[in-house]
Amino acid sequence: MEGTVFDIQRNSLNDGPGIRTTVFLKGCALNCLWCHNRESIAVKPLLRFYPDKCQNCMECVTVCDAEAHLDLEGKHAVDFARCVQNWDCIQVCPSGALVKTGKNMSIEEVMQIFLKDRDYFDRSGGGITLSGGEPMIQYEFSKSLLAECHVQGIHTCLDTTGYTPWERLKSMMACTDLFLYDYKETDPKKHKEFTGVDNILIRENLARLNDAGAAIVLRCPVIPGMNDNEEHLGEIARLSRMYEGIREVHILPYHTLGIGKAEQHGIKAEHVTFSIPDEKIKAHWWTILNSHDAKNFRIF
Ligand code: SF4
Ligand code: SF4
Repeated sequence: MEGTVFDIQRNSLNDGPGIRTTVFLKGCALNCLWCHNRESIAVKPLLRFYPDKCQNCMECVTVCDAEAHLDLEGKHAVDFARCVQNWDCIQVCPSGALVKTGKNMSIEEVMQIFLKDRDYFDRSGGGITLSGGEPMIQYEFSKSLLAECHVQGIHTCLDTTGYTPWERLKSMMACTDLFLYDYKETDPKKHKEFTGVDNILIRENLARLNDAGAAIVLRCPVIPGMNDNEEHLGEIARLSRMYEGIREVHILPYHTLGIGKAEQHGIKAEHVTFSIPDEKIKAHWWTILNSHDAKNFRIF
């Protein structure tokens, strides 16, 4: 069995307990305005262009029958909309300016990478984390990979939006030690506006996971002016008190790290960029959460 992986990060410290290897799978049903992994949304691999590495040799223009590479008076440019993903250009590019984001990997290939860090996992209480995108889009692969980790005695985390049929999420409990569960917005209409879907299924699945005894870290991206209001932060606090399964709440302030990466994939940031919260704003969030008796929360 194979999955489409777009990145594997070893020595990761913020994707669950201890030192972890995080595998990023392609595909997501949501499209958050603030997404910092926009290249992950499509399941299929994408062409990535690093302008800084380009030597303007025009080898790619010569081989691309789709005319996705352009020679603009000696300066190379890419028309990503024309790309038909046959990767001919990558083969001839002399400088590594063109790469493919997303490759098919077998369970065995991914496990070989995990097992390199086995000692670190054991000594730090770490393990592996499946992230994305949304790993549940590649459900069969995700389930088989985490099950194999358990066979090898490796701790597993599943980073999920929760936007998936309950029967699937339930079946992941047998191979998932800790769910990193996203909670993005409380108001269903705003949730749809921000992410493309409402939050009804996400909230239902959170309640079901809790009732079924899962261990959960609630991960909450907070974006100034969008979802940093008292109604939403107060609800995060209420959930942290109400659900015993929620061991910690992680407040993840907005950052802009993904914007350059999106542009290198020809994905226009059609959304506005938001302001990066300063310490004063984060202190305000802390005050709201604290005033609502939020349990075990951290602002990163
Ligand atoms: S992958 Fe193929 S179609 Fe896409 S830009 Fe390269 S050569 Fe052209
Ligand atoms: S082949 Fe590579 S270096 Fe040459 S123009 Fe194309 S992207 Fe630039």
